[in-house]
Parts: sequence; structure tokens; C-alpha cells
Amino acid sequence: MAMTRSAGLFERAKAVMPGGCSRNTILRKPYPIYAERGEGSYVYDVEGVRRIDFGNNVASLIHGHAHPAIVAAVGEQLRNGTAFTVGTETEIEYAELITSRNPSFERVRFVNSGTEAVMASLKAARAFTGRPKIAKVEGAYHGLYDYAETSQTAKPGNWGQPDRPSSVAVARGTPQNVLDDVVVIPFNDVERALAILDANRDQLACVLIDLLPHRIGVIPASQAFVRALRRWTEKNGALLIFDEVITFRSTFEGAQQWYDAQPDITALGKMIGGGFPVGGIAGRAHVMEVMNPLNGPAPFPLYGTFSANPVTMTAGRTAMKLYDRQAVERLNSLGDRARTLIGEAIKVADVPACVTGRGSMFRIHLSADAPEGYRQAYLSPEKAALLSRFVGHLFDGGLLIVETATGFLSTAMSEQEIDDMASVVLKALRKIKPYL
Ligand code: PMP
Repeated sequence: MAMTRSAGLFERAKAVMPGGCSRNTILRKPYPIYAERGEGSYVYDVEGVRRIDFGNNVASLIHGHAHPAIVAAVGEQLRNGTAFTVGTETEIEYAELITSRNPSFERVRFVNSGTEAVMASLKAARAFTGRPKIAKVEGAYHGLYDYAETSQTAKPGNWGQPDRPSSVAVARGTPQNVLDDVVVIPFNDVERALAILDANRDQLACVLIDLLPHRIGVIPASQAFVRALRRWTEKNGALLIFDEVITFRSTFEGAQQWYDAQPDITALGKMIGGGFPVGGIAGRAHVMEVMNPLNGPAPFPLYGTFSANPVTMTAGRTAMKLYDRQAVERLNSLGDRARTLIGEAIKVADVPACVTGRGSMFRIHLSADAPEGYRQAYLSPEKAALLSRFVGHLFDGGLLIVETATGFLSTAMSEQEIDDMASVVLKALRKIKPYL
């Protein structure tokens, strides 16, 4: 059989990049596919195959591919220059727009990725409190910063007792003192989490939480859990940080609007770049002052060659203006439709599966019950292999989706794309039924 273009590209890629890529996310067996172009809800690969895109560059393309307004705005900016050693008005305009979206965003700074946004949030918390430790939820993904990535690869052999989840390194060679400075708490388990926090009371700078964590099955943090963390941090002089790198899409103000607790700092990223690399740290003015160098050395100096570059600022500002209250509402009702239709497909296929998610996100689980935390969401190698087989069927059926069977909607979608997705899901469920 003749080699496909994608297979050929992967051979070339492996010769020049470890694993044949710059981000492991693109890898697929037996080889990745390569995009030729994207348009609205669809991606065309180099083989000429069209797929509906529910990956949207892992939740970063809120308007799908090549939205005409973003293309036009960025095109104009490109002609005027892409990055400067001096400031631009575009940055200020975008900062004004972002801070106007949520009362807890009194000040903002832009960086280049979600990883950087989380890193800057944690460093700001340390600088503000003068304390070394951070607390995070077991298994939650927050990017690559040493402290933030801890415990993400915890598995039955190393995850520790439920009342004392281990601080597990992801990268070999992570210094022990990093692990010692990360306090791991179980998701949605108020009693155990508070006991662990209490034991580290005087040393904790902050508690970091994603309100709808991807690696924990896209199940929402409970109202009680978030409220307890807010109360605990307030009482003990620590900061509460929400990682809304993905979830900011959930309401006009972000997923935090669903809760009756507000954070001190919010880490932003993905969709606020309008399709370009971005991160943001938004928070209370008195906390964000740790980055202010105007009155003497800043407790937390923050630099970045490409931070707030005018291309990202222009694309982000255009995208966020388009993502107004009405657009959010429409997208979330498409999300409701997606989850309902997937639920119906599961019933029709008569398989032990379920769907979770909220707003414009969904996750398909190949188990009758949704997980309650990281330990239930953890997949054995056999279960993981079955999931990737299922995702392979979705892919062959014309659907792009994140490899965890998680989908992120874009405003380029209509009911048609949602309905088409559900019928591909039904076919894929039927194919794997004998193995469930
Ligand atoms: N936080 C969350 C919740 C994320 O999902 C991600 C990326 N998937 C990050 C942080 C890191 O963002 P980036 O890949 O832009 O560094």
C-alpha cells in the first residue's frame, strides 16, 4: 500500500524532533494526521479528509478556525508590525476589555501560555504571602511548571492514602524540595482537604483549583468544596487561585460565576488569545501589586519578550468582543444539546457509558457511572487502550476530539454539527460494545 502523506510526514518529523513533534498532544497511532487547513467547525487534513473539530486546539479556538473578523483584524496588525520593545495601545485596550468582564479581575497582565499564567499566579501568591508552599488538587493538570504539574501522574502504586495523596513528580529529576512544597488535596472531599491544609497552615501561599478539571473527568467542583477552600484561605492568610485556562468559556465571567466564592487570582489562557499563544493573570488589585515595579523593586518581577504582543492582543480582543453574553448562551445551549444527544446515543447503543461536562464542554466515559475524583477517573492501561480505540472510531467517522474523549464546542457550530457528532458517537459505541 502506498504511504499516506501523513505517514511520510511523520517519518520526516521523527528524524528532526524527539517523538516527531513539539507537543505530545498531536501524536496518534500509527501516525499523527497533519492539518492542511481549517475553516469554521471543520479541519481538512493533508489527505483531503474533512472532520468536524471538537478539539479546537484543546479548547483554544472559541470561534473555530479562521473566523473572518479575526483574520481581518490580525491581517491589518501584521502589516503594522508584530512585536515591539515598546508598549502598544492594543495591550491597554485588551486589558480594559478583560478586566471589564469580571469584578474579580481588577488588574490583569498578559503572558504567552497557560503554563506561564499558572506559574505567574503561584509566584505572585508566594510573593504576596511570603510563604513557600502551594496546594493543588490530586491529578489536576495545570501546565508544565514544576510545582503545578506535581501529582498528575499519580497512579495506584504511588498515589498514597486517600487522606494523604502523594506529591508525585512528573518529570524525572524534579527536585525533592519542589515535591515537599506541593500539598496535594483530594477533589471535592471537603473534610480530607481541610485536614491536609490545616497541617500546612502557616506555610501555604495558595490553593490552586480548576473548577471543571479535564484530567478528573470534566466533573464540576462542588459548591461546598469551593466555598470551603475560599473560607479556609481567607481565614489562614493564603490566596485562592482559579485556573480558568479552559473554563473561562463557561459563562461571560468564567466558570467562577457558577460559584458563590470569588478567587484572588485567576489564571487565563487558550481562548483569550483568539487563536494565538497567550496566558493571562487577572486578580485583585492589592494582590497584583506584587508585580508593580513603579514604587521600588517588585516583589515578583514579571518579564516576557512576546508577552502582550499586538498580534495576540488584537486577535484576543476581537475574539472576546464576539464572545458576548448572547454568544456564550447560544454555545452553552448547543453544549446541552450535545450532552443530551450523547446520552441518548448511549441509551440506544445500550452500553455502560456516560457523559459529563457543563457549558460548552463534554466528556464521554466508557463506564456506567461518572467518576467522583481523580482515583475513579484514572484508567488502567486496558481501559485506556479501549478509550483510544473508541476515539479512533470517532476519528474514522469524521470527528476530531481530544484523546480523553473530551469535546470543546466552538461558536462556528450549529445544531447540524452537534447532531452529526452524536450519530458518529452512536456508531463508535456500537463498534466497541463487544469489548465493554
Ligand atoms: N491549565 C489548564 C487547566 C490547561 O488545560 C492547560 C492546557 N491544556 C494549561 C493550564 C496550560 O496551558 P498551555 O498549554 O497554554 O501552557
